[in-house]
Amino acid sequence: MKDKNKTQNKKNYEHNRIANVPLNGKHKPERAKVNNGVFVYSKIPTVASLAKSLDIEPSAIIKYLFLNKKKIVTINQTLDEDTLGEVCLEFGYDFRKEEIVAEEDFENLNLNDNPDDLTERAPVVTIMGHVDHGKTTLIDAIRSSHLVESEVGGISQAIGAYQKEYHGKKITFIDTPGHEAFAEMRSRGAKVTDIIILVVAADDGVMPQTKEAIDHARAANVPIIVAINKIDKPGANIEKVKNELIQLDVVPEEFGGDTIFLNIAAKKGVGIDELLENILVLSEMLELKANPKRYAMGTVLEAKLDKGEGPKATLLVQNGTLNASDYVVVGAAYGKVRRMTNEHKKILKVASPSTPVSIIGLNEVPKAGDLFMAFPTEKQAKDIANKRHALKVDEERNKNQSVSLDDLYDKIHEGEMKEVNIIVKADTNGSAEAIKQSLEKLTNDEIKVQVIRAAAGAITESDVLLASASHALIYGFNVRPDNLVKTKAQEEKVDIRLHNLIYALIEEVEDALKGMKKARIVEEVTGRAEIRQIFKASKVGSIAGAYVTEGSIIRDSKIRLIRDGIVIYTGKLGSLKRFKDDAREVKAGFECGFTIDGYNDIKENDIVEGYVEKEERE
Ligand code: GDP
Repeated sequence: MKDKNKTQNKKNYEHNRIANVPLNGKHKPERAKVNNGVFVYSKIPTVASLAKSLDIEPSAIIKYLFLNKKKIVTINQTLDEDTLGEVCLEFGYDFRKEEIVAEEDFENLNLNDNPDDLTERAPVVTIMGHVDHGKTTLIDAIRSSHLVESEVGGISQAIGAYQKEYHGKKITFIDTPGHEAFAEMRSRGAKVTDIIILVVAADDGVMPQTKEAIDHARAANVPIIVAINKIDKPGANIEKVKNELIQLDVVPEEFGGDTIFLNIAAKKGVGIDELLENILVLSEMLELKANPKRYAMGTVLEAKLDKGEGPKATLLVQNGTLNASDYVVVGAAYGKVRRMTNEHKKILKVASPSTPVSIIGLNEVPKAGDLFMAFPTEKQAKDIANKRHALKVDEERNKNQSVSLDDLYDKIHEGEMKEVNIIVKADTNGSAEAIKQSLEKLTNDEIKVQVIRAAAGAITESDVLLASASHALIYGFNVRPDNLVKTKAQEEKVDIRLHNLIYALIEEVEDALKGMKKARIVEEVTGRAEIRQIFKASKVGSIAGAYVTEGSIIRDSKIRLIRDGIVIYTGKLGSLKRFKDDAREVKAGFECGFTIDGYNDIKENDIVEGYVEKEERE
């Protein structure tokens, strides 16, 4: 037998830590093994296989348990985790459990924590509410209340979160992240908050962002504590606020609901103790637990590049314990924790569940909302980070795989495309629908033509985003994108095609599918003017007083009249004037007057776009 005392003197914590281990081809998770004197397992073995791994007789284990622990076990039985640990130590081995992590997908890991390992953890609280209702004031009031010795006069660093001790219990506050940041984190699968404090000013009542915060809380299934603030103000009307919240189904306990309502005056520190008290009461009801015995996992709250120290991230440890010497993978970044500090710049060796810490040592700056996981060795962390990196590059590449009509045929033939997605925007629902049907009929054995959105209206930024996300082309029929939308489309590499004849539109797609690049009529926009005033003249009809905003308006060119992004009329100018004189061309930055040939119903804010047509051969 090996030196028993020496082994048993080792800290139990280290033996017990459940390691996250990447699953890869070489690793056989179901096989327990001894590695450098450590018995490593992921599933608890039978007495027989444990004995084999430890190179002892099964009878030795059975005898030891019977004589020392009064436990009768058989050779085919599995031991409980505590007994397994005792046996390992008794026979001179350390032990460690491993959680096998699917290589690049630790976000979807199902944790199997032994209920006996779970211990209470501090609640994580976020403060939300309408602007100016007192969130920042409340955060400050909480921070400065009941300062413990280590906090008084200490240098604090803004790490986006802090812990407060009250009646011997800790509460973790996340500095109000703003509703968008909260939603963004949630969309990345992060769930960091256990309780939301909803601040509502008593003199202002429920406001749009109050409702928004309630929606966020509900969507994330997080309980709310309502803090009615500014009760010291003369205009305070607590009952009105309560009634408004009840309308939104946030009902106080006194009226049979399940939401805690408190009255506070953050600026004067009134009601802060009661709020802290109630956070503890609620968190007790929520039975918040975590397993400190495992390697840490959690979420990035903030990250930035520090000039002197490199990538710096605030991590919220949500399960497990983070050690100052662990290796972490965050998003696709990784590194050894070189230094770990709390919000008072105090260096920490370990961080237990619900502790926010600032770390340096990562090789890249991660994103807020990214999940992190700690690993025992650099190799494991590096392997997993590399795989995640490759996955990310693939995702980016796919994202940038925009399609343009011109390379459609090549992509189809190289087998890269099996379907063409198209967005149709038209001047009326009827034409949108007609174009959709004609386009979908172009589907053949090789390629499916799919119209993913067909609607009446101007081409908008949301169309461009949808096109970008689904590698779609956009077809506009008698509609025009404005400049903002054009720029967005260029950024996202989305091809926008504009037509005013249905058959020409369909033919263009048909030809592209066949790989035929026919000579086509392309138009060149010469300029745009904004109609600012209308003059009625009995003889000539409506005269537009306009300002040329781009390029130039040419007397003999074709024009289209655009209202709210929709082409209302296509034709020619009847006249073009600078003051009283006829003009051949009016340039950007000048005013002009014109009539439209055969069209009188012009309105202020209409846009006139001049264009010429040219034949283009490829
Ligand atoms: P936030 O936008 O929600 O973070 O709101 P602030 O914390 O910046 O507060 C907005 C204004 O309300 C500030 O001028 C605060 O001083 C004031 N304020 C906050 N709490 C109280 C309070 O309890 N009573 C009074 N009278 N004013 C308060």
